[in-house]
Amino acid sequence: MKALSKRLRLLQTTLSRCCSGAASPPSVPAEPPSLLNLCHQRDLPRAMQALDSMERHGVKADAITYAELIKCCLAHGAVREGKRVHRHIFSNGYLPKTFLINTLLNMYVKFNLLEEAQVVFDEMPERNVVSWTTMISAYSSVKLNDRAMKLLVFMLREGVMPNMFTFSSVLRACEYLSDIKQIHSSILKVGLESDVFVRSALIDVYSKLGELLEALSVFKEMVTGDRVVWNSIIAAFAQHSDGDEALYLYKKMRRAGFPADQSTLTSVLRACTGMSLLELGRQAHVHVLKFDQDLILHNALLDMYCKCGSLEDAKFIFNRMVVKDVISWSTMIAGLAQNGFSLEALKLFDSMKVMGPRPNYITILGVLFACSHAGLVDDGWHYFRSMKNLYGIDPGREHYGCMLDLLGRAGKLDDMVKLIHEMNCKPDVVTWRTLLDACRAHRNVDLATYAAKEILKLDAEDTGAYVLLSNTYANSKMWNDVAEVRRTMRVKGIRKEPGCSWIEVDKQIHAFILGDKSHPQIDEISRQLNQFISRLTGAGYVPDTNFVLQDLEGEQREDSLRHHSEKLAIVFGIMSFPKEKTIRVWKNLRICGDCHIFAKLIAKLEQRHIVIRDPIRYHHFRDGVCSCGDYW
Ligand code: ZN
Ligand code: ZN
Repeated sequence: MKALSKRLRLLQTTLSRCCSGAASPPSVPAEPPSLLNLCHQRDLPRAMQALDSMERHGVKADAITYAELIKCCLAHGAVREGKRVHRHIFSNGYLPKTFLINTLLNMYVKFNLLEEAQVVFDEMPERNVVSWTTMISAYSSVKLNDRAMKLLVFMLREGVMPNMFTFSSVLRACEYLSDIKQIHSSILKVGLESDVFVRSALIDVYSKLGELLEALSVFKEMVTGDRVVWNSIIAAFAQHSDGDEALYLYKKMRRAGFPADQSTLTSVLRACTGMSLLELGRQAHVHVLKFDQDLILHNALLDMYCKCGSLEDAKFIFNRMVVKDVISWSTMIAGLAQNGFSLEALKLFDSMKVMGPRPNYITILGVLFACSHAGLVDDGWHYFRSMKNLYGIDPGREHYGCMLDLLGRAGKLDDMVKLIHEMNCKPDVVTWRTLLDACRAHRNVDLATYAAKEILKLDAEDTGAYVLLSNTYANSKMWNDVAEVRRTMRVKGIRKEPGCSWIEVDKQIHAFILGDKSHPQIDEISRQLNQFISRLTGAGYVPDTNFVLQDLEGEQREDSLRHHSEKLAIVFGIMSFPKEKTIRVWKNLRICGDCHIFAKLIAKLEQRHIVIRDPIRYHHFRDGVCSCGDYW
């Protein structure tokens, strides 16, 4: 086969010499020994010399040779030479074939010289589908979407039939639903809707615009399955945090006989991460092993283990990765920090500075987070003040957030207020809530009231702020103000979201809601919980109902505290798992002070490792202490 193609090439070379009209005695100096061969060897300097001498003798090569020469210029990134070839081809009023002009067009596009490309395109006597598609995809890849769309319209008007490449490039340029609908109907008109690439581009674009139902209907029209299309639809749901649907489609895909590839598994891991489904994530891990070298996939795996609070697995993956990029390092640093292993996170950052890639915006965020959790105020200030100088990164809202958190933990409430006033962006609800949380932890009622009022200015429906104000006033016996806050809440129809905790047992999610007795084993769980509480009470546990600054409303009574959802979930975990297995609970609201104490004591009493993830952070309970250091 190889020998044959070599012979063919030789023949071509000979032919090209014949066609050039210069074929003949070797003594003529203008005769290129073989311009085509020089091009094949990517020997640009000698090829240009050959072109020189051809020009001097007024000789032309054939289209194939010119095309090869242009490829050679492209390979060398030689813009000046490319333009010379362009001039030479058109010299003496010669008009090249469409295919050769397309090659020139492609050259200018690849050189990112879109204006030159446009000139060539405009002067073409005849444009075929390749010419149009080259220009359309050039514009859409530099986000000149209007121009890409306009070209498609002109193309259709000139009666040139778009192909699947045209559509997949122009679809990338769609920013508005009306555009995509229009293109979608043209696709149907020319009958390209069953093309795999067009279909998957359509799904991607509908998904990008958040039109998941449209995406799903395009998907459902597929008659014969194709993995590319399956991957598009699964990714669409995974990216839009609809992990349930993503996983459901994934199972269907497997049943339909399509094995998962890197792209499928990345989406599946994303879905598991979003829903904190550690067991399912572990199953996906088994399939990931087949793609040992895939960086994106391994980063997704790392992220899944970190976000599901399984640090041992994350570290194992990280250490085994042969290639690590800035995402891998940042994920691991942030993962350690978020799970309360701050010193380890900072140590890893030190190694990154020595042997890893240059830290980015996200890396610094993880570092600040670690400082914050370890209470390293000076280090935090150092990294925060020097991020611009050392790494050229301007502090963003998230960095301010981390610094505020750090100051808040350290009880430096006045510094927090100062930093809020010097932020380079407007403080938002999250900023004020961070201040409020710090005031809560450090029992500063005045400042808490100030923060709560700022929050209500930005979000008049913030339940936590109302409840806090009402509790604060109640504590100071300012009953008129209490009544006023309650009234406002009633008028606005604001009610506190009920606490809900969930736990995964045998690949099933068990949810516990305060006051809800629908779990089939609720009686047994309650009985066990009461037993634990009496044993703990014997060991000195006193239910903590004393938090004025908590956003608990009417829940402070002991009997209601007793059945907070996270306690039920923990007890169910103890009942369902063997001792060595970590109990992982997720909660929709911040864990309350009483449940926090309970979790610490029960972890010690039962010798269990308990992980609770609330919307604010992770808590790892072991041996009577929590990784958050009692600040949350
Ligand atoms: Zn609680
Ligand atoms: Zn904690």
